[in-house]
Amino acid sequence: MKVVIVGGVAGGASTAARLRRMDEGAEIVMLERGPNISFANCGLPYHIGEVIKDRERLLVVTPEKLKEMLNIDSRVKNEVVKINRAEKFVMVRDLETNRTYEESYDKLVLSPGAAPIVPPLPGVNLPGVFTLRNLPDMDRIKAFVDEEKPARAVVVGGGFIGLEIAENLQHRGVQVTLIELLNQVMAPIDPEMAALVHQHLIFKKVRLALGDGLKSISTGEDGWLKVGLNSGRTVDAQMVILSIGVRPENRLAKEADLELGVRGTIRVNSHMQTSDPDIYAVGDVVEVINRITDEPTNMALAGPASRQGRMVADHITGRDVSFKGVVGTSVVKVFDLTVSAVGLNTHQLEQAEMEFMNVIVHVSNHAGYYPGASPMALKLLFSPEGKIFGAQAVGIEGVEKRIDVIATAMQAGMSVFDLEELELSYAPPFGSSRDPVNIVGFTAGNVLRGDAKVMHWDEVNQLDRNAMTVVDVRLPEELGLGMIDGAINIPLQGIRQHLNEIPKNRPVLLYCQTGQRSYFASRVLNQLGYDAYNLTGGYKTYSHAVGRQSNFDVFEHVTISSREEIKEILPTPSGAIAEVTVDACGLQCPGPILKLYNKIKEVNVGDIVTVQATDYGFTSDVEAWAQSTGNRLLSLDTEDGIIVAKIQKGAPKEAAGGVVMGKNKTLVIFSGDLDKALAGFIIANGVIASGNEAAMFFTFWGLNLLRKNEHVKVKKNLIERMFGWMLPRGTQRAKLSQMHMAGMGTAMIKGIMKKKNVDSLPQMIKTAMDNGVRIQACQMSMDLLGIKREELIDGIEVVGVATMLAASDDSNGVIFI
Ligand code: FAD
Repeated sequence: MKVVIVGGVAGGASTAARLRRMDEGAEIVMLERGPNISFANCGLPYHIGEVIKDRERLLVVTPEKLKEMLNIDSRVKNEVVKINRAEKFVMVRDLETNRTYEESYDKLVLSPGAAPIVPPLPGVNLPGVFTLRNLPDMDRIKAFVDEEKPARAVVVGGGFIGLEIAENLQHRGVQVTLIELLNQVMAPIDPEMAALVHQHLIFKKVRLALGDGLKSISTGEDGWLKVGLNSGRTVDAQMVILSIGVRPENRLAKEADLELGVRGTIRVNSHMQTSDPDIYAVGDVVEVINRITDEPTNMALAGPASRQGRMVADHITGRDVSFKGVVGTSVVKVFDLTVSAVGLNTHQLEQAEMEFMNVIVHVSNHAGYYPGASPMALKLLFSPEGKIFGAQAVGIEGVEKRIDVIATAMQAGMSVFDLEELELSYAPPFGSSRDPVNIVGFTAGNVLRGDAKVMHWDEVNQLDRNAMTVVDVRLPEELGLGMIDGAINIPLQGIRQHLNEIPKNRPVLLYCQTGQRSYFASRVLNQLGYDAYNLTGGYKTYSHAVGRQSNFDVFEHVTISSREEIKEILPTPSGAIAEVTVDACGLQCPGPILKLYNKIKEVNVGDIVTVQATDYGFTSDVEAWAQSTGNRLLSLDTEDGIIVAKIQKGAPKEAAGGVVMGKNKTLVIFSGDLDKALAGFIIANGVIASGNEAAMFFTFWGLNLLRKNEHVKVKKNLIERMFGWMLPRGTQRAKLSQMHMAGMGTAMIKGIMKKKNVDSLPQMIKTAMDNGVRIQACQMSMDLLGIKREELIDGIEVVGVATMLAASDDSNGVIFI
């Protein structure tokens, strides 16, 4: 039997090699148009970036070796130009001699791949404009970078290849502007997952233009390429790489009247036979069945090409084998990130009109206590019955391992509930006893069983805030990372004590940084009869997704003419400064921020704290935190995959409202009136915000505000009990000093405060305490009124007048209320 194979790389070479192993007597001829067979096209971007230094490593096998080892007749620079199906031969042109000859076949296998799309736009053929498919393309690009030493490049297209090229060019010191027509890079993943990639690209100083397309390329007077975009903007660059996708090389099939499929692919049956049973087709050029939708699609990935090649060889040699279809398992490295996905994403599920649900978890790749743990965001999409539709993950390590497990589960027909049960290997350096796959299974299982109700990041801004309470259950120290508008802060730790602040008559959206603590809180609330929802993926997913995605305009007016200029010059702080390092590696957000917060408290103004972290979410968090706390982010970079942030402690921020800097205050709260108490707390919180200290000394009727709202059983004598009945208990019973109007005025003012998002009195007390305001109860007044320590809210110091006087000595003012 004679088998002729068109194309000598992934699909073609796999077919040839397996054929020989299955049939020693077969005559195998492999015809390749290019100068190489079986080269590692997936490695091409990395040789440009000099990550793979040795070019030879990309040449997996040569025609000579293939002849020696497998007795395969492979001919490079031989292009098949025509198929004669009737007489079963192909016309071949020897590209070196230009001679054309016929090559007969019993079976023909087409594996011609897919070619980069070059849009019909002005200037796409100018020198300096490239595409990348094979070794000659790679050599041209690398030679240009080596010789011309370009300062700037434009990469058009934010898919796998575009991102790999962008990374590798930046690696070579070329500043990249990445242009992507969609509003996100990496189309296989959902926007909120892609947002993590955008932040990372920006962090790596890629200039990112999303939602904009290439319109034209021309050469300017300075010799640079002027890349015109649909938006009307122009980018100057010395080189342009077009990576906007591939189109199947279907010319031979089309001219031979073979049936075509979706997007110009060649239609094949499950044995990979075309409409002519003696002609097979494999690889990027074929139509395949999507195993989730059962619909035809195409999948330009090396794995399917190589497996199809092997399967075709088996079929040709008499085995009854078939290709089951694809689920689209993919992975790509984007600088320090790993981005991996399988199955359908939200857009595809919506297009297919398939009902689905989804959850997002933020988990560590391995036990957090073992050095080097790094976080990953893992999203699962599934049917209301628990069928797995797809998964996406973004992280640093162990990302593709989890997607591979889920991909296997999908292909085995397993459900969300099976993910909960999966037994996966575990030791601290590699995983957790509850693997991320189990955790995403538990989370989805909770939703399916009705144990947890979730909301998604894109629903938050559509909420009617008057119809829903939003509760942030993070610690106050974490709020510097930002909050959802209108949310109230009740840390999970205190949620049971603060239920009175959460109205029961309307739904509650709970969130924390990652969605885990808010899930715990939602369980508390739901069991108490609340209608509580958890924000899946937490504030981390929300803030990334709703934040700025492009940074194009940041560079709008910057001219960079040489490579040297694009290196950032770090501001060097002057004066005697101490430098301390905080190791926050392995901690998930907000861990690194909390460590930084505590260290900054210890050091002096001007000192530098270097934080090392592995949670890449820290890169955007630290910037926001530094900005909101008056500290200065000096630098942010990565060293060997570890994020290194240098923060210089700033002077305390000047408070709004003109509170004098550097002056402490003591407030004596004599009154228990609501309005006066509010005024007192507003001032105290303002003093703290200005970087000063505040103490509030509650005496006589003011003490009522510090009493718990609920009755506390304590031992009292008759007089004390009588006082106890007469005195209003806690903040809930505090009234306005004027216009109380039998409760109407007080209720009105509380309503207005809520509407205008002014913190309630209990919230202000809590904020003051969390911020470090010393809340002191006068021991003597407590004795007189018969108020016991147990009746006071937690965190109150019971002090004598001497303590109050000592505090006022340190103050430049004592305010009486
Ligand atoms: P190819 O491997 O492209 O081989 C087709 C060959 O056929 C070509 O060499 C072509 O010259 C030859 N040919 C075409 N027409 C003729 C003709 N008429 N006569 C003779 N020869 C002909 N996939 C992944 O899964 N992971 C990755 O990380 C990844 N990275 C990639 C990076 C780059 C830069 C590129 C270009 C591709 C990458 N891919 C990756 C995709 C993967 O390489 C392809 O899916 C796979 O090579 C497809 O195999 P194929 O045999 O269909 O086509």
